[in-house]
Amino acid sequence: MSVKTVINEMSKEQQKEKESLNLYYSTQTVIQEALTKLGYNSEMYELLKEPIRLLTVRIPVRMDDGTVKVFTGYRSQHNDAVGPTKGGVRFHPNVDEAEVKALSIWMSLKCGITNLPYGGGKGGIICDPRKMSFRELERLSRGYVRAISQIVGPTKDIPAPDVYTNSQIMAWMMDEYSRLREFDSPGFITGKPLVLGGSHGRETATAQGVTICINEAVKKKGKDLKGARVVIQGFGNAGSYLAKFMHDAGAKVVAVSDVYGGVYDPDGLDINYLLDRRDSFGTFSQLFNDTISNKELLELDCDILVPAAISNQITEENAANIKASIIVEAANGPTTLEATKILTERGILLVPDILASAGGVTVSYFEWVQNNQGYYWTEEEVMEKLEKVMIRSFDTIYQLAQTHQVDMRLAAYMVGIKKVAEASRFRGWV
Ligand code: GLU
Repeated sequence: MSVKTVINEMSKEQQKEKESLNLYYSTQTVIQEALTKLGYNSEMYELLKEPIRLLTVRIPVRMDDGTVKVFTGYRSQHNDAVGPTKGGVRFHPNVDEAEVKALSIWMSLKCGITNLPYGGGKGGIICDPRKMSFRELERLSRGYVRAISQIVGPTKDIPAPDVYTNSQIMAWMMDEYSRLREFDSPGFITGKPLVLGGSHGRETATAQGVTICINEAVKKKGKDLKGARVVIQGFGNAGSYLAKFMHDAGAKVVAVSDVYGGVYDPDGLDINYLLDRRDSFGTFSQLFNDTISNKELLELDCDILVPAAISNQITEENAANIKASIIVEAANGPTTLEATKILTERGILLVPDILASAGGVTVSYFEWVQNNQGYYWTEEEVMEKLEKVMIRSFDTIYQLAQTHQVDMRLAAYMVGIKKVAEASRFRGWV
């Protein structure tokens, strides 16, 4: 590797570190604003601005070629006043400490908004699962559980899937935990395969939650979903199922993308064709000659824009060029605070990530409840309960935003943080 390449690599890493820190600081800024609006003192902010626990682990993994590679992983627990902490584990090269910490705070907010009996947690491993074999991934997943086993458990902290992790990885993790504890522990983790105590509807839950939010947002704007032009950035778990649900509801999905780029057709895309051809990481665009960039995709003429990929996509640089009148954030942190301000001033209805993407953790909660009671529900029962939770959460936040004349992001933070603050106060922590 040349010196120039090393410098470029370093600056890319530093750039990412800066982005994560920005994400973390913006989260703290909005928490402070929300607590002030709710009338809490600075001691409450001191407690809630940082996770109460962060564990960093090093996980040695024997690779298929016989060498040993040591991976770095994290588990962050924001606050456990409400109950055990809960949140996914992501496997991604860009994972870092600040990002995991911010994501664990957002989980507290999501659980507060949906009124689940949990605090927020989040985990991550710095790795690139796209370049690892099935067996290497299994060893890494099991190694991670052994490394964090002291601080997790069905009544302590319950992991789940997140970016680039899936039900197979949850199954290995659950098996490793059950072996360590020497009893069957399905409630240790959610997002499991159905045969291992998973829940109906968990696989599609995030996209279902986003769909419910889109329906509510469309109603508020006095529009119709039928025929509405939808653009979706990302074709992973949330993006791909969402494209299908939008298509089935009669909306016109005009563009979707993966990490490399997207496809656009103003007459509407053949979503089933794309779903058939996507790989397990949600990539499909390399099959097409005529693609657009992710940057271009966000600025396309459409009615509803759904960023369903990664953070920091809508910034002060492109916020003025967004054409959609409704933005529903299926990803975590896709819009910066500066961009939120610009979009709100432009009268665009923005449904924030901590509300829109809360369907996943809601059905995770249903899975955990079913595991604890050993009695399983039908898909209809799950969907009916999910719909109730999402509509109630949407309405509460929408109303609060109207009453306080604030954007829905700040209103969502107010609803989310209130529960954590109240629980901390009753416990006598502040
Ligand atoms: N990783 C998902 C999220 O960010 C789901 C978490 C869970 O199910 O616990 O909301």
